[in-house]
This record gives sequence, C-alpha cells and structure tokens, in this order.
Amino acid sequence: MGAKKVIVIGAGIVGLSTAYFLRKQGADVTVIDNTDGSNNCSNGNAGYISPSHLVPLASPGIISQGIKWMLNAESPFYIKPRLNRDLIKWGLLFKRSATVSKVDAAAKVLYQLTVQSQTLYEKIMADENIEAGYKKPGLLMICKTESTLKDEIELVTMAKSFGLDAEVLTREETEEMEPNIQYNMAGSVYFGCDAWMTPNVFMQKFKEILIQLGVNFQYNTQLEKIIHKGFSIEKLVTNKGEFTADEYVLAAGSWSPILMKQLKIDIPLQAGKGYSFTLPSPVAMPKLPSILVEGRVATTPMMHGLRIAGTMEIAGTQLTINERRVQGIIKSVKEFMPQFEEQDFSQIETWAGLRPCTPDGLPYIGRAKKYKNLLIGTGHAMLGFTLGPITGQMLSHEIMGEKPAIVSPLLEVERFA
Ligand SMILES: Cc1cc2nc3c(=O)[nH]c(=O)nc-3n(C[C@H](O)[C@H](O)[C@H](O)COP(=O)(O)OP(=O)(O)OC[C@H]3O[C@@H](n4cnc5c(N)ncnc54)[C@H](O)[C@@H]3O)c2cc1C
Repeated sequence: MGAKKVIVIGAGIVGLSTAYFLRKQGADVTVIDNTDGSNNCSNGNAGYISPSHLVPLASPGIISQGIKWMLNAESPFYIKPRLNRDLIKWGLLFKRSATVSKVDAAAKVLYQLTVQSQTLYEKIMADENIEAGYKKPGLLMICKTESTLKDEIELVTMAKSFGLDAEVLTREETEEMEPNIQYNMAGSVYFGCDAWMTPNVFMQKFKEILIQLGVNFQYNTQLEKIIHKGFSIEKLVTNKGEFTADEYVLAAGSWSPILMKQLKIDIPLQAGKGYSFTLPSPVAMPKLPSILVEGRVATTPMMHGLRIAGTMEIAGTQLTINERRVQGIIKSVKEFMPQFEEQDFSQIETWAGLRPCTPDGLPYIGRAKKYKNLLIGTGHAMLGFTLGPITGQMLSHEIMGEKPAIVSPLLEVERFA
C-alpha cells in the first residue's frame, strides 16, 4: 500500500502545521489555497505565542462592555448589526458561553493547548533551523488605570493556579523592566511564560521547509465544491480542476463555515477582523511586547520594526479597512506611549486579517461526524498563531491512527449541532 494521500485546504498556520506533521509521519500531502498564502491572517498578526491568553473572548462582563464599545466608532470591539441567522445564532451561543464555569472549563483546555503548542514551535524551529525572531522573555499587560490593574489581578491568580509565570508590577517595576518606553500607566502585569516572533518570516520559512520535505502546494486554487458519496468525501472541485485524496483537512480559517454549509455541517463561526501596521524605525523600540489593556492594542518588537495590532470587528468576511478604527488604534498608542506622535503614523500601510472566532473561544479540532475522511481545524480566534502546531499535530495523529495529545469534548467539531 502506498502513502496515505491527504489534501489540506488552507495555507495559514493551521494548514502548514498539519501538512508538516503529516509529512513527517509519511503522508503524501497537498496544500490548496486560493491565494499565494503570504497575506492571510497567519502573517500580519501580533506574533504572540501566548499561554497567558487563558480567558476566551466570551467571558463574564464582556456583553455589557461590548455594548458600550458598540456606541463608539473608534472602540476596539464592534459587531455590525445584521439580520443574519448565523450571526444571531453565534451571538446567542456566545452569550451562553460567557459564564464563570464555562470560562473555567475553556481555560483548562486552552492552557494545555497553548503550552504544548509553544513547545512544538521550539522543536520545529530547532529541528528545521528556522530563524524568525523567536524570543521568550515574556509579555507586559500595561494598565492605564488602577481599576484595570485590579481587574487584571484575577487573571494573574488564574494563570498562577496553572503554574504559569505571572506577576503584578508597580509602575516603577515596569519601568525597570521596560526602560525604552515611558508608558502612561498605573502599573502592569508581567507574563514570563509568553513568547513572540515575526509571523510572516516564520510562515515564509516554514513553507520553504515544507517544499523541501516534499509537500505539494497548489496556490491560487479556489475550492468551490466538495463532492461526497454517502459518508465519504469523493473529490474537491476547484477553479484549477479536481483533486482527490484518502483524507481531507479543512483549515480555511474564517471561510470554513461557508464551505462546510455545502455538506450541511454547522460550525458556528464569525470572522473577527483586526488590523496591524509595522513601523520600520519607531521613535522608541520596546524590549518586550505589550498589550495596552484598555485600548486592546498589541505592540510587538519584530525583526523589521514595531508591529502594532488591534480591533475586533465582527462584520463578515470582507477585508475592507475601516479608517476610524485604525485611528482608534493610533489614538490608544499615543495615549499609552506619549513618545509616539501623530507624524509617526503618517506613512503606515494597514494590513487586515480575519480571526476565525467560535462562540465559546475554543477551536474546532477533529473529525466530522458525518464523513469518515473529513477533518476540521479552525476557530482559534485570537490564539490561532499560537495554536497552529498543536492543532496540526493533533489532526495528523488522528489521520495516521495515533491518539491525539489532547482529547476533549470541548474541542469537538460538531459540539453545537
Ligand atoms: C490583528 C490580529 C492580531 C493577532 N495576533 C495574534 C497573536 O499575537 N497570537 C496568536 O496566536 N494569534 C493572533 N491572531 C489570530 C491568528 O492570526 C489567527 O487565529 C490565525 O492566523 C488563523 O489561522 P488559520 O490557519 O486558521 O487561518 P488563515 O491564516 O486565515 O488561513 C486560511 C487560509 O485558507 C484560505 N482559504 C479560504 N477559503 C478558501 C477556499 N475556498 N479555497 C482555498 N483556500 C481557501 C485563505 O485564503 C487563507 O489563506 C491575530 C489576528 C489578528 C487579525
């Protein structure tokens, strides 16, 4: 019998990681993507490999905070009101997930996933000799007000209960740790467990490694139709012809639910649009990445400059840029980091990406119930870059007949069916 033939749909971090582990286990792998793969959500993100992000978006308090944000055009979170069945269902499920017990259960799973994924990144980079600016001295959550700092203490307690390295720092202690930036703050929370890198550099190098390993890439190939026969996927119809395999993995990020509708598989998921831009020579370069908490803005010192990222707009799968929200990001940076002035942002080129957001903040990872040769890996929301490797390894293990590292009903693909 020849090698198992697998097609992976989507060349984001989830698709590339799945292809990597499958190939390492001896499969014959083809990756299909409707772009050249260099500008998807996995490239322009903030680059955090972040076990500290234990709390999903749907958490107690978010609904009332969200309503306040909705009324401000420059706010970090926005849901475009639409009379759309999928959005309404997603909203109801989101509300149902925002309870203390559900968040606790989700955090336990996210902890396992993030920590194991960070280790896998380190192994991939060592084994394949990839240099993508990976660093692990931690991350700061900068709090402008005392009351935000107090709220963040809850997160520190939770992180510590998992054994993660987390501590609350005074203003002076933060300045000692980050001497390059004069933050306007009450204090910060330091997560020593977090790492970061330059994601677009990693993605490019990872792709080159995959090609060397013998993975076949079909770029600019749009999956249009999935043909099934009974309980089995028979072939994929694309604008570049038909493709067949023994097993199929859907890793198409925010577009996954649209493709799954063809097969009557319901995976509630909304695209959460975010923006980023990179300042090649910033007035001051921080040593550590930081989240400007009240502004929900992420700043990351990368290989080619300071990347600034933010906003979460639930408004469909268009990649159009809303200038008011980009201005909201800039305003937050200036407020938190007064060394930065308006003219520092005059040349920015804004990138937009779509986070695939499930209602409960946990990804869909595993086999579809109805089709024996279809697997799904998507819905990682704000943690997709962090969770690519563990997702890829779990899917590869499932396909090659090994037990995945983490098995949880909370990750099941059709848990909302
Ligand atoms: C501003 C911002 C900052 C972020 N910061 C972080 C961070 O610091 N850390 C972190 O862990 N995560 C972060 N994220 C989230 C993370 O980037 C995403 O969760 C992750 O990249 C999703 O990866 P993916 O492989 O699922 O999807 P994608 O990267 O979106 O890849 C999916 C691919 O599928 C292709 N595709 C779709 N439909 C079809 C079709 N019909 N046929 C063929 N191909 C198709 C798409 O073109 C795309 O290339 C951030 C996101 C944003 C927007």
